[in-house]
Amino acid sequence: GGGRCNFTNRLLTRQNATERFLSRNPRFALSALSRYTPADFIARLDAAGIAWHEKHLGQLFCDGKATQIIDLLLRDLRAAGGVLSLETEIERVERAGDGFLVTTSQGPIRAASVIVATGGKSIPKMGASSLGYEIAQKFGLDIVETRPALVPLTFAEQDLARTAPLSGLARPVDLRLGKTHFAEDLLFTHRGLSGPAILQISSYWREGDTLKIDLAPGNDIAAALSEQRDAAGRQALHNALARHLP
Ligand SMILES: Cc1cc2nc3c(=O)[nH]c(=O)nc-3n(C[C@H](O)[C@H](O)[C@H](O)COP(=O)(O)OP(=O)(O)OC[C@H]3O[C@@H](n4cnc5c(N)ncnc54)[C@H](O)[C@@H]3O)c2cc1C
Repeated sequence: GGGRCNFTNRLLTRQNATERFLSRNPRFALSALSRYTPADFIARLDAAGIAWHEKHLGQLFCDGKATQIIDLLLRDLRAAGGVLSLETEIERVERAGDGFLVTTSQGPIRAASVIVATGGKSIPKMGASSLGYEIAQKFGLDIVETRPALVPLTFAEQDLARTAPLSGLARPVDLRLGKTHFAEDLLFTHRGLSGPAILQISSYWREGDTLKIDLAPGNDIAAALSEQRDAAGRQALHNALARHLP
């Protein structure tokens, strides 16, 4: 969130949570989301005196830095009697009697319960590993094959030749894939497309799918060009288009 932490979304409700949680079982997150709502987290921030603001589509960000959220969560962790062990690699988790034995690089830990929160596999240099999946498999849980989500899209060379010169340019767009659509910003990059609209649609896109991108949403450019022609006579197309698109 640009270093300010996009900490929740005000528009998330029990009704739309199942549409917004992408999963084969969209109801999975429902009980957690309804027991701890965006309003609960906003109240927690307000109580801690952390100032925030709303950007578009209900997205809430800190006025200050994202570290305020980390500090708050660490204070809550300590207040609840939690201990944070950094630089500690978990090697295995096994059943031991009624509980579990967790083998770590700092020695064994015995526990009555274990909550696995090892994240996804996306950014190994930030500590991501497949441990959570390995633990699940070991305890006989089915694993859905993982695939990238919330990622930029990269183009093949021949397409890149056309779009790379636009690198750095951002536009509000209307992006469609079948019935799914997002009205957010798109960013041309030196490798393809990025920006919030692309990150969103990437979770739906599958190899071979066609994306429809309206670069001037809400504008009928053909009609505007013909009006311009009537009013201003002959004009080079790129000059006429420059009034609508960068
Ligand atoms: C650059 C960036 C910006 C983001 N900005 C936002 C934002 O503004 N708002 C937002 O809501 N989301 C944001 N996200 C997404 C958000 O960070 C993740 O969705 C969230 O952190 C996932 O939480 P998690 O607890 O499931 O996993 P993680 O936060 O990934 O935590 C998993 C932890 O498990 C540890 N771990 C893994 N394997 C082992 C092992 N073998 N032994 C010990 N420890 C292990 C990892 O080191 C890690 O600390 C952002 C992500 C990135 C990369």
